Amino acid sequence: MKKILRFVVVIGLFMLILQCSSRQAPQQRPEYALVIHGGAGTILKNNMPPEKEKEFRDALTTALRTGEKILATGGSSLDAVVATIRFMEDSPLFNAGKGAVFTHEGKNELDAALMNGADLNVGAVAGVTRVKNPIELARKVMENSPHVLFARDGAEAFAVEQGMELVDPNYFRIESRWHSLQKALEREKEKKSAFYRGTKNDNKFGTVGCVALDKMGNLAAGTSTGGMTNKRFGRIGDSPIVGAGTYASNKTCAVSATGWGEFFIRNVVAYDIAAMMEYKNFPVQKAAAAAIEKVGKMKASGGVIVLDKNGNIAMQFNSAGMFRGFSIAGEKPVVKIFGREE
Ligand code: ASP
Repeated sequence: MKKILRFVVVIGLFMLILQCSSRQAPQQRPEYALVIHGGAGTILKNNMPPEKEKEFRDALTTALRTGEKILATGGSSLDAVVATIRFMEDSPLFNAGKGAVFTHEGKNELDAALMNGADLNVGAVAGVTRVKNPIELARKVMENSPHVLFARDGAEAFAVEQGMELVDPNYFRIESRWHSLQKALEREKEKKSAFYRGTKNDNKFGTVGCVALDKMGNLAAGTSTGGMTNKRFGRIGDSPIVGAGTYASNKTCAVSATGWGEFFIRNVVAYDIAAMMEYKNFPVQKAAAAAIEKVGKMKASGGVIVLDKNGNIAMQFNSAGMFRGFSIAGEKPVVKIFGREE
């Protein structure tokens, strides 16, 4: 009898300890979460007039609200990512859709990718010149074709077949981007090289990206860009390359990158982060920092936004600044631009 009593007491104590530790367990997954970026680069407070800063902060806040509204009402992470990026593509402030940078020949060639973390399905487009919202075309590639990446004329023919409206290529043009191309061309002439690499001062990128976690626990990632000023020979960057600039898996995390694309492709940055989380059990912040360190070691700059399956966030970059923000269910949205901003 005594033995049984002792057994019951021990089991009781054990249950109590278990309960306590589950109360202390890491915070519960939020109902939903959304993270955005609007590009990384030489973004310094001293160089940005207050009105411009306000414009960016307002645009980032509206972008967050756009996706948040969808997630709060039970919409999917894919819907939230597409709507958020569409808003940023339509804003001339960012290097995606309207306001994209110019190629060497004076054109706007757009790249975008979308990935669904639930089934690893992907859609991407590269080098399109007449599609108003490339992220929407990326979704159609994902959902309405057996393929993952369409380029240039073929991608546009598919857009027409899908009933998408094409715009005049002039729609994307804004004067400040045109001016940046002229400056780049002048510098290129001085260097007599077919491959203009840019300098620290004109490496202001402006790609846009979004990662989201919905109430069903599904992750999605999307990225959209005009690429790099003065690109030529059909150059494609990391944004539409799955695993480099964009990746999502419900097993680990969703990632969108921005920066010098060639180095993000060479380091397979987005997948590298997911792999470090899956195989090495790295927390999201540690994985993001390790991946950006590898890019930095090659003397390239840029950043990533990462959202893991539990709603933990990393916004890591090695440039002076990165337009960024996040919104977590039940919390006030946060927008930041410069480095070391509280
Ligand atoms: N990663 C983009 C590219 O290389 C540029 C950017 O992020 O601004 O095409």
